[in-house]
Amino acid sequence: MHPGVLHRRFLSDLSTSLFSFVLPLLPTSEELTIKEEVRTLIEKLIKTIEPSARLLSFGSSCNSFGLRNSDMDLVVLIDDPDAGLDSSMFVQMIGDLLERETNFDVKPLPKARIPIIKLNLAASPGLPFGIACDIGIENRLAIENTRLLLTYATIDPARVRTLVLFLKVWAKRRRINSPYRGTLSSYGITLMVLYFLVHVKQPPVLPNLQRIAPVRPITEEEMMLESRNVYFFDDVEMLRQEWSSVNFESVGELLIDFFRYFSHDFQFNTMVLSLRAGPLTKESKGWTNDIDVGGLNEMARDRNRLCIEDPFEITYNVARTVTKDGLYTIRGEFMRATRILTQRHDRAVLALAELCR
Ligand code: ATP
Ligand code: MG
Repeated sequence: MHPGVLHRRFLSDLSTSLFSFVLPLLPTSEELTIKEEVRTLIEKLIKTIEPSARLLSFGSSCNSFGLRNSDMDLVVLIDDPDAGLDSSMFVQMIGDLLERETNFDVKPLPKARIPIIKLNLAASPGLPFGIACDIGIENRLAIENTRLLLTYATIDPARVRTLVLFLKVWAKRRRINSPYRGTLSSYGITLMVLYFLVHVKQPPVLPNLQRIAPVRPITEEEMMLESRNVYFFDDVEMLRQEWSSVNFESVGELLIDFFRYFSHDFQFNTMVLSLRAGPLTKESKGWTNDIDVGGLNEMARDRNRLCIEDPFEITYNVARTVTKDGLYTIRGEFMRATRILTQRHDRAVLALAELCR
């Protein structure tokens, strides 16, 4: 058979295999129900301390990039401006309350840089592996970036969700999804995929939601949250009607190209990935590696090895946890993945299995 035909067959096989790979890793409806019940229960308890408090989910439980047994990210928002509760104190109070009233394993961290309560729910029939849960206080930007990710996913779920979910699994299996060990957070990986679909692919697979003008004029004030511009175009119905990408590449082709781009083309040493603005230089953001470390530790020197700008908190490098060794490993993984997917394979499903080994 002609090599071109074989290649086309491999690509279509790869796309089908990606869908089948991801499907059984999605959370079960039972898991989602239990998580929602847990959220409601905790919210009810917290309201006994502060009636104006709400408990919201963010992160992968509600950005559509959740996998089975993903942790649960929750945040307490206090609507009454006169509540006058300090985060550390509130974390301690909620921790004590949950310890008294529930049988969750509770660990309040009131003195952490960002005070949170860590919870572990024991395994049960609906939650065979239990659930880890973090509760933060007043992190409103996280709610907004979760909504941004969800809106991107909604525009083209078949390609966007499949790619992100697969790459999250791949990164976990290849051990490059450990911010505490010098590699990437899931949030960082997701931003890399969206950046690729918005700014690298030509024609783009996704529009830049932060650059589409609002239909009705909105004031500067309405765009701001905690002095950050959090505007993005979020009218999903209108996006469905008005935006149709003229990029028709299959999810398999996009995956290969994603790995290829980050193996060979992206200039890790000098460039910043900005979903908001496209490629930026480290220099223009002042994110150079030889920052004045003045006696600080090794970690500080590594702060800008890999630069991913947060979509709203634009002075913040989401990938600041990536160390020199971490970046070396990540780039090695991109190259390995490119090699595996561009070698001749008879069956895509075997290539995916090897990729995630
Ligand atoms: P997982 O399924 O692996 O838990 P996730 O989508 O929940 O994936 P996390 O990395 O756990 O991703 O992040 C959850 C949320 O926390 C993100 O959606 C984001 O709002 C916020 N977040 C996480 N990491 C960062 C970071 N480095 N900078 C800013 N916000 C972050
Ligand atoms: Mg999470």
